[in-house]
Amino acid sequence: MNAQMRRNIVQTSRIFISLIALTSACQATTALAQEANYRASADPLELTVHYHFRDQYVYTQDWPVEQKAAELTNVRVRNVASSASTNSKDAFNLMITSGDLADIVGGLKDDFNRYGREGAFLPLDDLIAEHAPHIKAFFEAHPAFHNAAAGADGKLYYIPYIQDGTLSEGWFVRQDWLEKLGLETPETPEEVYAVLKAFREQDPNGNGQKDEVPYFSRNLGNTLRLMNLWDARVSGSATYGDFAVYDGELRHPWAEQNYKTAMSNLAQWYKEGLIDPEIFTRGPRAREYLLGNNLGGMTHDWFPSTSTYNVSLADTIEGFSFRPMLPPKTISGDRFEDARRQIVTAEGWGISVANEHPVETIKYFDFWFTELGRQMANFGVEGDTYTIVDGKPTFTEAVLTDSQPVNAQLWEIGAQVPRGYVMDYDYELQWSNEIALAGMQLYEACDCLKPDFMGVALTDNEKAVYDRYWPSILTYMQEMQQTWLLGAQDVDSTWDAYQSRLEQMGYGEVLDVMQTAYQRQYGADQ
Ligand code: CA
Repeated sequence: MNAQMRRNIVQTSRIFISLIALTSACQATTALAQEANYRASADPLELTVHYHFRDQYVYTQDWPVEQKAAELTNVRVRNVASSASTNSKDAFNLMITSGDLADIVGGLKDDFNRYGREGAFLPLDDLIAEHAPHIKAFFEAHPAFHNAAAGADGKLYYIPYIQDGTLSEGWFVRQDWLEKLGLETPETPEEVYAVLKAFREQDPNGNGQKDEVPYFSRNLGNTLRLMNLWDARVSGSATYGDFAVYDGELRHPWAEQNYKTAMSNLAQWYKEGLIDPEIFTRGPRAREYLLGNNLGGMTHDWFPSTSTYNVSLADTIEGFSFRPMLPPKTISGDRFEDARRQIVTAEGWGISVANEHPVETIKYFDFWFTELGRQMANFGVEGDTYTIVDGKPTFTEAVLTDSQPVNAQLWEIGAQVPRGYVMDYDYELQWSNEIALAGMQLYEACDCLKPDFMGVALTDNEKAVYDRYWPSILTYMQEMQQTWLLGAQDVDSTWDAYQSRLEQMGYGEVLDVMQTAYQRQYGADQ
């Protein structure tokens, strides 16, 4: 392969070209000459850090990546979070309520924005403008990312972990089954129906039993992904069941007319056995079980991990070929992909009001936005986990061939951990197999990814309205999804009542505050 293919994917998916171009000129200078530039403090400085994340990790000075950063910046962090806790939210809250704030605190956007406005965290914009040229340049190039991270007062209280690349998931189909049954890759809703029907009726696994499960999913987000065929959206963002932007207006996809049409058709498909009868209950091992037992025909899932079954099942299922395919066209002739990577994540770090060295701290944060800092945050330590090949950080053979997945190896040394930094998509491409890469290239060329809703920061009053109504509305929507799909109620005859109920439950009020917040936050970008 495919060096060209790999390059194309990297090139077309980059969203940080300007930043890279700006800084790559410096890359050739020697490490020694650079070191002085990375100094965040004239004298050696130790700062405490409290960052318990993903319910099981703590940010630690022991990571080789952090030790190298300390050497370069003259700032050494010291972990004060207890690794005994198994709940990051609790660990954060405990620190806040104790009043004993670490200098650097890691956590989630909503908490930074809430406690930031209450005075626990410093607003960062002025510090960035004066002391963090790389962060400043990044947000100037991507103002929408700043808006997505900022609080309802427009101020930034944390530096987010920013993802690179946009693609996450795509459609997969048993290519060998299609060939066996004389079918083409489906291109329209009618053809998807015909394929799933044939998988169901014509015994493609050849065991004489009607045991095939045509469409399956291992997670909630993909349970009803087929609704896309009728132009309905599963979500407006990477968060399941999120609001979506329709021509500058926020609405919820599950209150739209095309959702009614989709659910009506999917209920029929379910009845005909084209969708896993256990679609809501089979759980996270559905993919492994249904593929491993030669039963599953089609799904929608992550490119890298789903592609690996072609390797792992090659010896046990003859001819096994589970290949990415483009999203089929919709009934209106559109073609779109609804799942994507969240660009500005809710994870990141901020500076507490107890910190006596905010200037040094923001300079230390800025280090992770330099070319070298970003490289270390993504690839680890040069000479250890990666080397520079043709000007690009490239994982060593030892890393790529280790029995442990590359991301797990990196977490152990402090790379790819959610500090405020910008992910480099190339890190992931280097260990994705060729089937995944080819699939992603197909989607890149299609350019059919829906833009995402990046979230809003609500004021206290707006938040009160949202909290009063939204959780129960969302629960009701999900209950009705199941009721309709499983055939317990008829979609067409209950749709009007569903709409009225949403209104009674406060859907209109929630839309109002969401729209107000959206306009405040993104109005200037529209
Ligand atoms: Ca069979």
